[in-house]
Amino acid sequence: SDCLALSCLEAWSRCDGAVLVDLHCHTTCSDGLLSPPALVERAHKRGVKVLALTDHDTMAGVPAAIAAARSYGMRIIPGVEISCRYLSSSGEMGELVHVLAYYGCCGPAQGLEERLAHIREGRYARARSMVDKLRDLKKPVRWESVLEFAGDGVAPGRPHVARALVQAGHVSSVGEAFHKYLHDGGPAYSNGSELPAGEAVELIRETGGIAVLAHPWSLKNPLDVVKQLKDAGLHGMEVYKSSGRDKAFADLADAYHLVKLGGSDFHGTGAADETDLGKVEVPAKALHEFLRAGDPVWLDSVMSILSSF
Ligand code: AMP
Ligand code: FE
Ligand code: FE
Ligand code: ZN
Repeated sequence: SDCLALSCLEAWSRCDGAVLVDLHCHTTCSDGLLSPPALVERAHKRGVKVLALTDHDTMAGVPAAIAAARSYGMRIIPGVEISCRYLSSSGEMGELVHVLAYYGCCGPAQGLEERLAHIREGRYARARSMVDKLRDLKKPVRWESVLEFAGDGVAPGRPHVARALVQAGHVSSVGEAFHKYLHDGGPAYSNGSELPAGEAVELIRETGGIAVLAHPWSLKNPLDVVKQLKDAGLHGMEVYKSSGRDKAFADLADAYHLVKLGGSDFHGTGAADETDLGKVEVPAKALHEFLRAGDPVWLDSVMSILSSF
């Protein structure tokens, strides 16, 4: 049945223009602009049959996404993009690392949710600290408007601070806010309560998830990070982009025997250069490895979804 599953996936990925799977996207539950049902509807219209929801540090959007997906016959893979930092061998917390975690139907165990809650709480103090830095830089934004952009009960992130900067007229775009003030190590940047990346990978494994390194091209020291996370049990890393396979990172993934994956990282910002849902193609063989690593249940349920189209 394994061979059958692979040939089924292959047949589907050869289907003219059919985009099957998107493994990375965001909703209003973190810093995306579409609600979970609106995101699922858009994915459906774009031909996505299997969608992994990967909001920053929360799985709050998953139930509504599953409910919305039901009417389209789509399958939602519960996921989360965990805010981590690289812990060097000398014990120093280094650069930001985003680790994607994918779960089966029931979502993560309690142990993970507690850690996610801790990171989300840290996001409030971090956003406050960034707002304080902006005030000192004579670019004041209102704390209330940061919280309003984040939305009810949603832990604030840099994009919400960026939108407040645009609203206050200090910059003309979110991109400019990041470029001038909020980029990693930027003048108004602050650290939060990120998890050491290796610990996150171990936790994901312990709780039955699949651990995947997100957008390694945004790392300063990808090799150190990949080495450490592989030792911790990393399953895969993103190497596919809308422009295709990133050769250097595909080679790195091969060298460390990691599954080569990717997704759109869609946020619904409406930016002209944003990669839309379903725009990143992942070969059938890699999807097969991913689904098999996760849980045989995934492979079966994904196959039953696909065969019904
Ligand atoms: P945070 O999780 O609060 O550190 O914010 C990271 C998020 O900021 C990413 O997931 C993107 O949504 C957004 N982001 C990062 N860099 C940029 C940029 N240069 N321009 C616009 N948005 C960005
Ligand atoms: Fe984001
Ligand atoms: Fe990310
Ligand atoms: Zn993301």
